[in-house]
Amino acid sequence: MIKTKKKILILGAGFGGLYAYRSLYRHFNKNEIDVTIVNKTNYFLFTPLLHEVATGGLSENSVVESIQHFLSRNGDVIHIADVLSLDKENKIVTTSLEKLSYDILIVALGASTNYFGTPGAEEHSLALKDLSDAVKMRGSIIDAFQKASVLKVDEDRKKALSFVVVGGGPTGVELAAEMAEFIHNTLMDYYKDSISCDDISVSLVNRGPELLAPFPVKLRGKALTVLQDKKIKVYLNTGVKEVHADEVVFSDDTKIHSSYTVWTAGVKPNTEMFANILPMDKGGRIFVDKNLHIADNPEIFVIGDVSFIKENENSLPLPMTAQVATQQGPHVAQNVHNFMNGYDLIPFKFESKGEMASLGRFEGLANVFGVPVTGAIAWFMWRTVYLFKFISPFKKIKVAFDWTMNLFFSRDITKI
Ligand SMILES: Cc1cc2nc3c(=O)[nH]c(=O)nc-3n(C[C@H](O)[C@H](O)[C@H](O)COP(=O)(O)OP(=O)(O)OC[C@H]3O[C@@H](n4cnc5c(N)ncnc54)[C@H](O)[C@@H]3O)c2cc1C
Repeated sequence: MIKTKKKILILGAGFGGLYAYRSLYRHFNKNEIDVTIVNKTNYFLFTPLLHEVATGGLSENSVVESIQHFLSRNGDVIHIADVLSLDKENKIVTTSLEKLSYDILIVALGASTNYFGTPGAEEHSLALKDLSDAVKMRGSIIDAFQKASVLKVDEDRKKALSFVVVGGGPTGVELAAEMAEFIHNTLMDYYKDSISCDDISVSLVNRGPELLAPFPVKLRGKALTVLQDKKIKVYLNTGVKEVHADEVVFSDDTKIHSSYTVWTAGVKPNTEMFANILPMDKGGRIFVDKNLHIADNPEIFVIGDVSFIKENENSLPLPMTAQVATQQGPHVAQNVHNFMNGYDLIPFKFESKGEMASLGRFEGLANVFGVPVTGAIAWFMWRTVYLFKFISPFKKIKVAFDWTMNLFFSRDITKI
């Protein structure tokens, strides 16, 4: 029986943090808990659709949801600040605004772009992690067309319109496909008098031998074919050694022009503030036990991209995906309830729903319970699944409406 209200502090309002928050009130009454969420921004960002913002398919407003609006229903508060450090002995988190105490801590701070120390990558490439990245990317592509349209020498136009995406995982593949469509099917309509299709190159560079490594082999091959049909030059088995303002250098010293390089080659967990405080692997993911908390600090739960958990001794850690985070969120809410009430905790078991990717209009890939699906059916499935992952009904309706409009009207080419 809980006598006083317990303070639950959630660090991070992404897929893990918000799904956990939403589920807490399935287990607790408002008079049992006070929840505070700390997040850098006052919105939840729907990262799987960022590439659509970057390529004019969706407006920036479509992929964000107000956290305050969501929390105010239960009288809880958001603390918009950066998490700076943790004093686990005294149960205090320091943020850029103040110190916050907790009884239960849920860490769900997600991940940032990992450049793996590649010289020039951070300075000379765009990432696709935040809303501002996507808006900037759309503007940069439009800028490139504007600049190229006044160049008289063919070679200069080719250099100005060389786009390189580094990283052949789901983010890089989806972005490259949408970028090629945005460029060839939308922007070219406005620049056909000054720019030829031959002036444009979109390249995708992947270190491994195949694209979309987590997908079944058949779908990986299909992804390659679809991208090549969209005039994307795909480099496989190709590491990137350096990135410069106007070129990308491969491991074998080959160079290709790149007026705009996008880096989607990896992520690293946002856990630098917990170094030497919480137990982590070399990559910075926090070790949790099967119940999703830290063995020596059972009041600290860790979920999503920052958590390191294996299904068994011989398996790889669970992937850093929204699919994992959205299952861990509700699970951790249940375990917080059990922990606070002295019940046994329930081990987390990830249930993979398969993989999905969109490759531009009416082209998708899906592996649903082992069954490979491609083309328009996979594309509609992809859209339907992601639509249901939005938190509020309003956003679900808004995005469905935007997508329907996109079937009849051109993409957004405003540069903000
Ligand atoms: C472009 C892109 C496309 C993706 N597509 C897919 C996909 O199709 N399918 C899929 O399953 N996964 C996809 N992912 C991965 C997915 O977004 C993550 O795995 C998922 O968001 C992890 O959830 P999380 O709660 O751990 O972190 P996040 O959802 O990233 O949430 C972390 C939150 O913490 C906040 N934060 C971070 N650091 C601090 C700090 N110091 N102080 C305060 N707040 C902080 C952030 O602002 C953010 O709100 C994609 C990722 C990207 C970038």
